[in-house]
Amino acid sequence: MLIAACSLLIIVAGVYVLTPLFKEPGGNLEVELLAETELDRLLGRKAVVYSNLKDLELEYKMGRLSEGDFRRLEAGYKQEAATILQDLDRLGVAKDLDDTIERDIAARKAKLFPGKADETRRCPSCGAQSPLGKKFCADCGGRL
Ligand SMILES: [Zn+2]
Repeated sequence: MLIAACSLLIIVAGVYVLTPLFKEPGGNLEVELLAETELDRLLGRKAVVYSNLKDLELEYKMGRLSEGDFRRLEAGYKQEAATILQDLDRLGVAKDLDDTIERDIAARKAKLFPGKADETRRCPSCGAQSPLGKKFCADCGGRL
């Protein structure tokens, strides 16, 4: 996993440096050669396309791209992203890994920081339920 993450980083960095701004989206030789498996290849391409999309938006916002160029390039990248997601789906990979990761982080946070009003805990002295976060029991005044 670490190796995959590293090679992904190298691919993204390499493509970022090598890809000229106005290059048409399409097959990328570096990514193709470095990829070992279909999954690696797809994930690598997905990362590249997404980073290209971000760069594209940035360039457009800075006024370096005409709206026509922006729309044309954006459409190409989005088309490619859709194809990649379909291929990933076919391989049985979660459609959007970023979503999966974010849901995972949210679940971890929920475990780390409960503090929800509907969660309660029992008073050690009298057994009454008090909301989490209270320091003293509402029934007997004992420390929770
Ligand atoms: Zn109590």
